[in-house]
Amino acid sequence: MIPIIKPVFGAEEEKTVLEIMKSGQITRGKWTLKFKESFSDYIGTTFCHTVCSGTAALYVALKALGVNTKKDTVIVPSISFMATIDAVILAGGTPVVVDVGEDYCMDPSQLEDAVKKYSPKVVIPVHLFGQTADMDKINQICKDRGVYVLEDAAQAHGAEYKGKKAGNLGDISTFSFYASKNVAMGEGGAILTNSIELDEKISNWIEFGDHPALNLRITEFQAGIGYWQLQKLDETNEKRRKIARLYNEEFKELPGLILPKEFEGRKHVYHIYALRHPQRDEIVEKLIQKGIGARVYYEYTLHQLRNTEHLDCSFGEKITKEIFAIPVHAALKNDEVSYIIETVKDVINNL
Ligand SMILES: *Cc1c(COP(=O)(O)O)cnc(C)c1O
Repeated sequence: MIPIIKPVFGAEEEKTVLEIMKSGQITRGKWTLKFKESFSDYIGTTFCHTVCSGTAALYVALKALGVNTKKDTVIVPSISFMATIDAVILAGGTPVVVDVGEDYCMDPSQLEDAVKKYSPKVVIPVHLFGQTADMDKINQICKDRGVYVLEDAAQAHGAEYKGKKAGNLGDISTFSFYASKNVAMGEGGAILTNSIELDEKISNWIEFGDHPALNLRITEFQAGIGYWQLQKLDETNEKRRKIARLYNEEFKELPGLILPKEFEGRKHVYHIYALRHPQRDEIVEKLIQKGIGARVYYEYTLHQLRNTEHLDCSFGEKITKEIFAIPVHAALKNDEVSYIIETVKDVINNL
């Protein structure tokens, strides 16, 4: 089976894990510091804190922004991994869901209506599948009304919007370094900001002191692996982009198939290569039978999943029945890419 996702590890990761083990310093050491400094340098923010998951990062970011009670409304998009909405509920806030557009990210015109109607404290645009949301529009709407923008950049390491990196486009951002992400540590996450006030609030939630806090640290092993993953990120993203371009070219005439689009001014890093087709379930089943790890991202909308307040999310509801993904990761070999292309063509032409 060609897996849907596979991280690329090399000699550097191996050497570093061994070195850490031999050194005896397995947590709170030089690799944790090195990773955190390299990551904020890469993204372009002043501050960075590492934590044990993307979900924990979202939770801490929301607490730092002051989400505490049901009166604190947080706007999230209809399509994302469930952690985006679960973190809001865990922090004690009230999520309100708005729909996504053709870019599969938060629809700015619906956001404008929701901001007027609900006066939220925070808006969480998700840079879904590796492409950023329309951040100029989202920031404008939020700035006008004093609403915080928290980017969920768990799928967008290295993605860009008008030349600026995802994770440096709002007030605060979160990443995940889960095994499947473009930078993989197994488990891990980060919270980034340029605001010294927010930085201090983040610290208060994750460093023991005069305020109750959580231990959400990563180990040196995770940081060491993440450091090398980050050094390879531009290269592995370029490989993903190359495979995606090839797929787009090869699949453009297949009947009923909707291809992913890279929007003007945005650099897509193809965390997931998402296709749409009305006969999605049949296609996924056949691809799996033929040894291709196709998968559905996502078969739920967030408002239906957690039964929450929402605007008209009919587009999101429709695409949960059509959307699916095929492998696009940097561990793919040329013959595997060719096999995927031939098989997808064969399956769709013979539905
Ligand atoms: C993976 C992911 C998360 C959660 O990250 P974990 O490290 O798995 O907790 C949050 N949001 C999005 C959009 C994700 O893809």
